[in-house]
Amino acid sequence: MPHLGRRVGALTAALAMSVTSGAIMSPASAHKWDDQPEKKATATGYGGAVSTVDADASAAAIKVLRKGGNAVDAAVAAAATLGVTEPYSAGIGGGGYFVYYDAKSGEVHTLDGRETAPAAMPNDAFIDPKTGKAYNFTPELVTSGVSVGVPGTAATWERALERWGSLSLGDALKPAIDVADNGFTVDSTFNLQTAENQVRFEAFPSTSELYLPGGKAPAVGSVLKNPDLAATYRLLGDEGTDAFYEGPLAEEIAATVQNPPKTATTKLPVPKGFMTAEDLANYEVLNQDPTHVEYRGYDVYGMAPSSSGGTTVGEALNILAPFELPDLVRGKGNSKNQSDVLHHYLEASALAFADRAKYVGDPKFVDVPTEALLDDVFGKERACNIDPRKAAVKPVAAGYVENYDGTCDVAPAAGEDAKDTENINTTNLTVSDKWGNVVEYTLTIEQTGGSGIVVPGRGFILNNELTDFSTVYDEADPNRIQPGKRPRSSMSPTIVLKDGDPFLALGSPGGSTIITTVLQTLVNRIDLGMSIEDAVAAPRASQRNTANVTAEQGFIDSPSGKVLAAKFGHKFAAAGSPGTSAAEIGAATAIEFNRDGGVTAVAEPERRGGGSAMVVKPAR
Ligand code: GLU
Repeated sequence: MPHLGRRVGALTAALAMSVTSGAIMSPASAHKWDDQPEKKATATGYGGAVSTVDADASAAAIKVLRKGGNAVDAAVAAAATLGVTEPYSAGIGGGGYFVYYDAKSGEVHTLDGRETAPAAMPNDAFIDPKTGKAYNFTPELVTSGVSVGVPGTAATWERALERWGSLSLGDALKPAIDVADNGFTVDSTFNLQTAENQVRFEAFPSTSELYLPGGKAPAVGSVLKNPDLAATYRLLGDEGTDAFYEGPLAEEIAATVQNPPKTATTKLPVPKGFMTAEDLANYEVLNQDPTHVEYRGYDVYGMAPSSSGGTTVGEALNILAPFELPDLVRGKGNSKNQSDVLHHYLEASALAFADRAKYVGDPKFVDVPTEALLDDVFGKERACNIDPRKAAVKPVAAGYVENYDGTCDVAPAAGEDAKDTENINTTNLTVSDKWGNVVEYTLTIEQTGGSGIVVPGRGFILNNELTDFSTVYDEADPNRIQPGKRPRSSMSPTIVLKDGDPFLALGSPGGSTIITTVLQTLVNRIDLGMSIEDAVAAPRASQRNTANVTAEQGFIDSPSGKVLAAKFGHKFAAAGSPGTSAAEIGAATAIEFNRDGGVTAVAEPERRGGGSAMVVKPAR
């Protein structure tokens, strides 16, 4: 696995390098944080903590926490910085889900900042009018106006700060503006992701001017600035997000979607979209109740639909609950017992994914049986379908949400193949503060590089989130295209309490593997008794109700992986070719709350070049 490291900007900027802002090259002067700590995957200490995929973003959060800001302020500062340094994963051109534990009330709240389909989007928007057939994901849909949803991220930041923050939006955006103005050091991940997007980015002058200086991906070690994004952030800071959802910027976003500003020479088809300025003016971030299940004495809170994250993670835990898994692992480290637990994990996940496909969509448009999916009696009945000795033939069928009693006398119907497309993008962050507040936030622009379209002069890329809808319209499909609807997500920001206090917060990118990454990490931590560092680092396998289990090679080759194949009959397929980023599943961040009042913040030690965990006051 290559180490595609995002390195700490200020520390690595000392070498001779170029500074890039669009096509302007000048001597280096990357921004410098005060006493910026080294990039580390684990940090233990007190006074607040953060974990993100990127050292600049984590440093932004720590800066805010040190100045007396709370976890919400710091989460917005980190997310906005990721919009600069991880612009192909997240930014104000996209959407996401924000989960907040409020220490004072002991309550968990969530915000749904998912993108929405334009009001004029027809049901057959993803059918090519020329051929009458569905557009392909690549190249037609991913690089298009038609898959751009109305962005929710700016509204999410504003709402979170208004409800729970202590800083104004302008103040929370300051660290990110600093990075956008002064630049960040390009690392090999950024360079590779840009190079992989070369053809798409070349199709739009607004994108190539920013991200292909001199016609190619910015060199590793060069400094990239984004003054247009700094100006956009300043505008939002000065005028609030009305300046995004109404007025000239909203008009420009709509015009860009309706008429993607592509070159005359590109071969990419780039279908036009339907978004109007009115769609932007009508966008609403939603205050939502979290999902909740109890699992082995822990209270697990997640994101309700329009994400399928909370219901699917929650249902899978309810399916696992009747099995006395902790008893199986008394001999911790014993691969036989570990494989028993992981067998149950894979089977529970497949069952929960069958129900996700049949029942979950945007609840404003379809009747989602959220209560049943999270009911432990339903979970108990679904658990009847697990043979403790053998993997079931996949796909397994969905359960009967209208009629269940927790007993094992129901014959399952035939299953349908899962229709999910794979993605490995998005970003996730976890923040806590000295008052005990916690934020778990997953945000995205969907594909790495989103739609590939930078809004001219504004410094951010528009999402292609609407590709999360099913391509072909089917009345029975809860995730069919409907105007004004939010496409079903898999984002699973999760906060776990024990006896009313935070125990663990975690989340990950990775498309529909987000659900299994969060679930497996919980099983690793709670059932297998791993430390949170080991639970995050452990090799991953993802069973989303398909014939083969998608897995990292490290999982397939592990003692448990071998037993799962030989004894239980699981069929594994490697997630991607060795050495590519597709070979990795997820890029989790987490914070565990320790009994002594300290915390352990954890990022990936290896995946995507490793993430960045920091604390305000390190433990000695
Ligand atoms: N669009 C995906 C979702 O909402 C996230 C994209 C990804 O993680 O790659 O579930």
